Amino acid sequence: PATARRQRLAVLGATGSIGASTLDVVARHPEQFEVFALCAGSQVDALFELCLRFRPAYAALATEAHAALLRDKLQAHGLATKVLSGNAGVEEIAAHPQVDAVMAAIVGAAGLGPCLAAARTGKRLLLANKEAIVVGGRFFMDAVAAGGATLLPIDSEHSAIFQSLPDDPATWDRRVEKIILTASGGPFRGRDPASLKAVTPEEACAHPNWSMGRKISVDSATMMNKALEVIEARHLFGLPSARIEVVIHPQSIVHSLVQYRDGSLVAQLGNPDMRVPIAYGLAWPERIESGTKRLDFSSVAAMTFEPPSAQRYPGLRLAWDALEGPDGTTAVLNAANEVAVQAFLDRRIRFDEIHVVNLRTLEAVLPDAPDSLAALLELDSRARAEAEHAATRLSA
Ligand code: NAD
Ligand code: MG
Repeated sequence: PATARRQRLAVLGATGSIGASTLDVVARHPEQFEVFALCAGSQVDALFELCLRFRPAYAALATEAHAALLRDKLQAHGLATKVLSGNAGVEEIAAHPQVDAVMAAIVGAAGLGPCLAAARTGKRLLLANKEAIVVGGRFFMDAVAAGGATLLPIDSEHSAIFQSLPDDPATWDRRVEKIILTASGGPFRGRDPASLKAVTPEEACAHPNWSMGRKISVDSATMMNKALEVIEARHLFGLPSARIEVVIHPQSIVHSLVQYRDGSLVAQLGNPDMRVPIAYGLAWPERIESGTKRLDFSSVAAMTFEPPSAQRYPGLRLAWDALEGPDGTTAVLNAANEVAVQAFLDRRIRFDEIHVVNLRTLEAVLPDAPDSLAALLELDSRARAEAEHAATRLSA
């Protein structure tokens, strides 16, 4: 309502792709949102520019050395923004009593601590950082419930599903037959799988429909992004993994579907533009302008759908396998994949070896039902060490 005070927002991962889209939407509604805090990893200059523009009360960077550089620049410009550093700094911001909503757009498991901090303090948590829910699993969902937080999906597929589901979550299991996640198939959809041995990081990062950070771009090319999203959907919507499916839809116009008990399908459509799910999360249950270009039906040549090939995307089924494993298995898969993607981006392993690293790590690391953030982080680092070992052996 127009009479309510402005929502105070903390944007974690402010200098990234989702961060930029979030600030684009927020800037369209200065009467509704106040940028209270901005956090990033190591991009001092980019965060400084954002501080000049949005004048937040707080900022944070991943290390104290980076934070000190930002502090100097802000001081020289007479800005009073308080600069924190490290995980503790980002978590302090996520849990800050003056923050209403947290946009979680850090990439990777590094975002889990801040997401938990926001969950435990009952924030409105806008979750783009899918790795946090893949690593945190049931433990994270319990923290959301215990903290009384409102968890709103920002991933476009999960936003589409959320928009296509009935309001009352208590009816989902009864009414819904299955959830169908759409996937673009990434840049290599039409390629002979044998030719994937030779692809470069630049080719893998050139997504046909979305412009995104490098990690998620590589995940889209392997379809590990969809695997992470299957795990994300399982936790967000509470349906067993056997009732979650994936279909390839190269045009990325249907953003996902819900199939009901009577065979009816309900979907959400639009041009591929992350500002739409971001605006939905920011305003829910209201609707606000996102800035997106409206879908022009005269320019939509066709919408096609096809099943994903297990040969081209061997990593996809690891989602269902990991969900059947003991608690913590999805955290192992995520850690392995983060290391494998980085090794590929660093040209230490080939594109098709990402899957090999993931498989070998899943075989080697047995999770021990992690039931705390410390236990999850310990499991995460054990899996990373094993994945590094696997990547090193492959590159030798
Ligand atoms: P990005 O690489 O463009 O941005 C990542 C952001 O996180 C940057 O601001 C970076 O500085 C920050 N960061 C990295 N490590 C950090 C740390 N240790 N501490 C604090 N900040 C840190 O990535 P992105 O494409 O914006 O994706 C962000 C998240 O959103 C990912 O989890 C991704 O899977 C998810 N997501 C992205 C899209 C998209 O279209 N880009 C769509 C759906 C979901
Ligand atoms: Mg997605």
